[in-house]
Amino acid sequence: MAGSNKDYYEILGIDHNASDADIQRAFRKKARTLHPDINKAPDAEVRFKEVNEAYEVLSDPKKREFYDHYGSVDGYGQGMPDMGDIFGGFGGFDFGDLFSTVINGGAGRGAHAARTDGRDMGAQIRVTLAEAATGVSKQIVYNRLAPCETCHGTGCAEGGQKVTCATCHGTGEVVTTQRTFLGQMQTRSVCPDCGGTGVTIDHPCPDCEGQGRAPERERVSVDIPAGVSDGQQLRVDGKGEAGIRGSRAGDLIVTIAVEGDETFQRDGDDLHVRVEASITQAALGAKIELDGIMPDETVEIQIPAGSQTDDVVRVRQKGMPHLGREDRGDLIAHVDVVVPRTLTEEQRHLLEQLAETLDEKQERPRRTPWQRLRDALR
Ligand SMILES: [Zn+2]
Ligand SMILES: [Zn+2]
Repeated sequence: MAGSNKDYYEILGIDHNASDADIQRAFRKKARTLHPDINKAPDAEVRFKEVNEAYEVLSDPKKREFYDHYGSVDGYGQGMPDMGDIFGGFGGFDFGDLFSTVINGGAGRGAHAARTDGRDMGAQIRVTLAEAATGVSKQIVYNRLAPCETCHGTGCAEGGQKVTCATCHGTGEVVTTQRTFLGQMQTRSVCPDCGGTGVTIDHPCPDCEGQGRAPERERVSVDIPAGVSDGQQLRVDGKGEAGIRGSRAGDLIVTIAVEGDETFQRDGDDLHVRVEASITQAALGAKIELDGIMPDETVEIQIPAGSQTDDVVRVRQKGMPHLGREDRGDLIAHVDVVVPRTLTEEQRHLLEQLAETLDEKQERPRRTPWQRLRDALR
């Protein structure tokens, strides 16, 4: 239990009349020497916590009054969390960070690395499955920060030149000093006047204000290779955001979206397709032609005799091209046996004859599929 009957004044080395400023000064002095990052004595951490605790109480006028009266802050403020919870592990704020900042005089150079390179940009291109099969060239139109045409990316107006930034003297960062209860704290940030480059332009280009880049509507032609898959990405070098005054430009990253197709279902580089066969084609076997995925391509599908609905016929090398290769996946045809919805007199007669022959072979089943068909057509 923290807080019980400790002499906080003694811990901070001050007397009972100490002013708020005295308390703060005393705490700072103690905390600096006792911080566990500096003081390796075995009891340093415990004493550091005590100093924190004393400061926490004495720097708060109400707590200090309570403590002065009762000699302890036990029971101070109903419903308050146990003081141990607050102090445990230096909770609340991070002393470690505060101290390393103060002691080292600020974080090292490069903590706020200036960003002068352009960023990557993203775009999406939609292609049909047929376009994905053949490969296609597509144009993307988008807005980006492009190298300024007026100054050719230098950022200088005519006669202008680069000069060392007066605000940061070329370091690219500015240091601000804040007063805290721990003393002065320095923070470094990117120089607002030069954007961290350390350089400004004495006569900046009026079109880009010395940035060397300006918004522009860009057109980029993208060659999409045959066999591309949905979600694949292509990188177009240097077509992202331009860098500041000629720094490296980002890339344009194009994500390919391959649209679904009404006829073909893609599975990797295989294509699935449904092919309709009449009852006679299914029974006798047949050669069925259909349009392939490639332009003007006809694919021949050999349906074997006795085919049933959902039987599968695989045709090699008629699927999607493998990306970057000459060969292709397969076309996988799923048979759909189609029963005629209407019959001519002659067809009906022929089917009835057929039905009789099928009946003989099947030892008089109650109703054959042919009988059901015949009934349905009546
Ligand atoms: Zn310019
Ligand atoms: Zn600067």
